[in-house]
Order: sequence, then C-alpha cells, then structure tokens
Amino acid sequence: MKAGYVYHPIYLEHDTGQHVERAGRLEAIISHLEETGLKQQLLPIQPRAATVEEIALVHHKRYIEEIRRVAQGGGGWLDADTVMSPHSYEAAIYAVGGVIRATEAVMDGEVGSAFALVRPPGHHATVAQAMGFCLFNNVAIAARYALNKYQLERIAIIDFDVHHGNSTHDIFYDDPRVLYISTHQYPFYPGTGAIEQTGDGAAKGATVNIPLPAGCGDAEYLQVFNQVIAPAVERFAPQLILVSAGYDSHWADRLALMQVSTTGFADMVKLIKGWADELCGGRLVFSLEGGYHFRALACSVKATFDVLLGNSIEDPLGPSADSGAPDITPLLKAIKDIHRLP
Ligand SMILES: [Zn+2]
Repeated sequence: MKAGYVYHPIYLEHDTGQHVERAGRLEAIISHLEETGLKQQLLPIQPRAATVEEIALVHHKRYIEEIRRVAQGGGGWLDADTVMSPHSYEAAIYAVGGVIRATEAVMDGEVGSAFALVRPPGHHATVAQAMGFCLFNNVAIAARYALNKYQLERIAIIDFDVHHGNSTHDIFYDDPRVLYISTHQYPFYPGTGAIEQTGDGAAKGATVNIPLPAGCGDAEYLQVFNQVIAPAVERFAPQLILVSAGYDSHWADRLALMQVSTTGFADMVKLIKGWADELCGGRLVFSLEGGYHFRALACSVKATFDVLLGNSIEDPLGPSADSGAPDITPLLKAIKDIHRLP
C-alpha cells in the first residue's frame, strides 16, 4: 500500500522571522526528501483550505475570526511564544485542511498511510487561544472530522512530541471515542500532563499521560512504547491512529533535554505501524508538530517515511553520546497501575 504526504508552499508563508518554529524547518525536510530520492516513492496529497465550520469543530468561531483579523492587520505576537504574519491565517487553514486531506486519503483507501508536513503546528492551541507556536489544533480537528464523516467510534491519538499536547488533552478529556496518549518531558512547558489525569466520566482511562524525566533516550522510549502504549492501544482497539509527530526529543534538538536518535524514532514508528496494521487495517496518519534541529528533523521525518514504506533506516547523526539515562521503571509501573494495564 502506498504512503502519501501533504505539503504546500503556503506553509512557508507563515513568516515567523528568526523564531525557532520557522519555515526553514519544512524546507529542510522537503529538500532532504528530494535529495535522497524518497519523495518519488510517495504519493502527493493536495491540501485544501479548511472551512470555518471545520475549524469550529474544535475552536470558537470568535477566535477563528480573531486569527483571520490579526493576519489581515499584518500579523503580530499573540503570546510570548506565538507570532503571526500577513499569510499566517491562510497557512493555518491549509495546515488544518492538510491533515483533514491526509485523513481522508487514508480513510478512503487512496493511500495506506500518510504524513501531513504542515506548519504552524497545533497541539498547544486551545479552543479560544493561540499558544506555544500553534494557531489551530490540526490533529484534534482532523479527529473530530473523521469521527463525524466516517462515523468512527474509536480513534487513538499518539503524541510523541517532547511537549505535552495540552490542547488535544483538554479537547478529548471527556470524549470516550478518542484515546489520547502523550509522552512528554516533565516538568517542562506547558506544565500539564500528570499521570493522575486520566479522563473524565465515560472517558475515564482514555487519556494516558506519560510524563518523563529529562535525559530519556531510545531505550526508555521503547520501554514506554512496549510496556504502556502497546497495551493501552491494543485494549482500546482504534479504527484509526493519528500521530502528533514532534521530533523535538531528538538528542541534537536543544529546545528540550531528551536523547532520542533518528533510529529511536524509527523504532517507535515501527511499533505504531504494527498496531495500525494489526488493529485498524493500517490506517495511520502523521501530522508534524515540533522538531527544531533542522537536520535531526529532516532525517527523522525521512526515517518515518522509510518505516511506512518498509525501507531500511539511515541515521547519519547516530546515537546520543549521553549515558545518564534515568530509571523510569517505577514511573511506568505507577502508570500501568493507574490504567490497570497488563
Ligand atoms: Zn514540542
């Protein structure tokens, strides 16, 4: 089955200047996919602009209009981390539409799996406020869209970005149809994502927070994936898996303090792909969140595609030289107890 990718030059027009979340991130990814010949192995999926009604599946219309107005007025800072330029609204609605199109392509069987290479990212943007480089929650909107359009009952969202996806967490906190699983450095920005927060009402247990101490590398992440995420996903039996794919836990990425290598990301993606194949006919959609070291980001995104295509993995940056990984065994036991995982 083919793997698809979403990309559009409008994503470069969200001009953030010298901000860490800048257009160069996507340019690095695209040129690496081109130089390595990987791009020709993928099916391009054309994004479209999401409608206000679609964005309003998650965000307040008042807020959507505010973002449109800020862009129209030339842009500006929305909070201490998040800035807009004149074309940011258009980029943002194409980012939402990009993840929606990737999801449709997978659900309609045009491709087996897809990766939406979009920006701005989404998992911090709350229903009424921009936050942490994010304007609209691309993945959350695509999840709601898929629940409605395809009448799905169970979607799993796996968020391996180094930051907690506070917005996705809150949006689905009381929705039993969405299993939200996040690995994140903790304590760290944005400060949310404690293990005791497991969901509300009928959705009790459908939020799995995995807050990790700084210094975790490939071995610790694989422990997390095998011991916590695997049984949680298998028990939930999703019909579709969405991934908030952030690569800011790479050891070369200095925004955070994790030690994951490109090979480590590939191993995580192999596990996720295995669950998708086993549980939901392979239906798997990635959406780009963070990742700020251009080369680490480009190589890790390529490795993600290589796993989807069944290619061998290249890791030019190699493993982390750090050897001080923390022991997370007691933490994982506590999470498994809270969630009654085998
Ligand atoms: Zn992040």
